[in-house]
Amino acid sequence: MIRLKPAQAVLLRRLAEAAHPKECCGLLIGRRLEAATQVDEIRPCRNLLDKECQDRFEIDPTDRFAAMRQARAMGREIVGHYHAHPQGPARPSETDRGMMYEPELIWLIIGMQKGQVEGIAAFRPNTEAGDFDAVLLVIEAPDDQNSPS
Ligand SMILES: [Zn+2]
Repeated sequence: MIRLKPAQAVLLRRLAEAAHPKECCGLLIGRRLEAATQVDEIRPCRNLLDKECQDRFEIDPTDRFAAMRQARAMGREIVGHYHAHPQGPARPSETDRGMMYEPELIWLIIGMQKGQVEGIAAFRPNTEAGDFDAVLLVIEAPDDQNSPS
């Protein structure tokens, strides 16, 4: 299970729609808790392949190293990454199946149609099966404004 805050889901939607028709991508910084992976920060990254469009993404390694360092300093880690399908559904494509290198990372895929986000879904590479397993994505309820923080 992976948990997102409502504001993080809104941010992903905005980033995907702002980048359209190019493909946005980035990292998820958070914690692997017993019950779920908790995302603490959505970190947009440069997509080195965004000029080619059509489900090609490669996170700029400089961005990744910077994110890793900062995550570590905060007691966090990179728990996954996200990318959009500017003209496709929120499920892994053939291209994605060819890029399953890190089984410990969760993939968030943002599906789009006509420039609008139609859904976000989470997956984890199953390198044995050569395919992705679906991961439950939970958007937390907004915080109760009266509760102490
Ligand atoms: Zn993809």
